[in-house]
Amino acid sequence: MVEKAKKIWIDGKFVDWDDANVHILTHTLHYGLGIFEGIRCYECEDGRSAVFRLPEHVERFFNSAHSMFMKMPFSQEEITQAILDTLLTNEQKAAYIRPLAFIGEGAMGLHPQDNPVRVSIVTWPWGAYLGEEGLTKGIRAKVSSFTRHHPNILMTKTKTCGNYVNSILAKLEVTTDGYDEAIMLDPDGYIGEGTGENIFIVRKGVLRTPPLTSILPGITRDCVITIARDLGFAVQEERFSRDDLYAANEAFFTGTAAEITPIREVDNRTIGEGLPGPLTRTLQDTFFQVVKGTKQDYSHWLTYL
Ligand SMILES: *Cc1c(COP(=O)(O)O)cnc(C)c1O
Repeated sequence: MVEKAKKIWIDGKFVDWDDANVHILTHTLHYGLGIFEGIRCYECEDGRSAVFRLPEHVERFFNSAHSMFMKMPFSQEEITQAILDTLLTNEQKAAYIRPLAFIGEGAMGLHPQDNPVRVSIVTWPWGAYLGEEGLTKGIRAKVSSFTRHHPNILMTKTKTCGNYVNSILAKLEVTTDGYDEAIMLDPDGYIGEGTGENIFIVRKGVLRTPPLTSILPGITRDCVITIARDLGFAVQEERFSRDDLYAANEAFFTGTAAEITPIREVDNRTIGEGLPGPLTRTLQDTFFQVVKGTKQDYSHWLTYL
């Protein structure tokens, strides 16, 4: 259950949590054309709060809308301010932030040209997405029988609501069988990403992650690549197959929700020692220091409240 906050920002106004309702003919509810973001605000070591990589998330939100022909009724500056205002109004020191742009009621066909584009922002406390134990001990993943989207079927670089039906099918499939998270192959059969996370492997000290051909360009993925290179590690953005994953010394997922979650097992094969590996732990430690504002070199990634 999501813990209620005081207010929800919707179409430029704050409404009480329980009053943030929509009509049943809301177009997005029927056909899935809507776009969203997932952002985190962390409580920093010095007691202040900072939104992590806010401009990049807002930019991606608008890119998603543009690709989907959704004309945003607000500017990037207005949405940025609305996100900060929502956190301040709800007096949350740390929160997950969910901006959503959706198509309101009007025409019910598949051509919602004149329906209003509506925007909401909800913030709520959200701990470790794949569990606190997952974060410290690693999770068990399974390659799903559901393939990730082909780029000519859906737009894989957007966080489009309907895209996630594919993720939900994969997640249901593997969690029903007792695994924690699904890994999805791309349409050519190479490792793509998780249901809402990017994936990395480590082999002989070198990091590898799939290129941005048909996967979501994760902001956490970008952080990990940047931090790893700054620490002197080589990072290759190259395709790899599931047997490369089985033979990896370390593997982990990255995402705003999942942060950096180690993978200790894939398809019942132990990865490395079956524990979070040394490079994974270094990256995790550095990442948590960065988001909590104790690494000066990355302070430009923080927007303080
Ligand atoms: C959001 C998401 C990610 C991770 O992106 P971040 O910007 O790191 O949060 C990866 N894959 C999919 C499919 C996603 O929806």
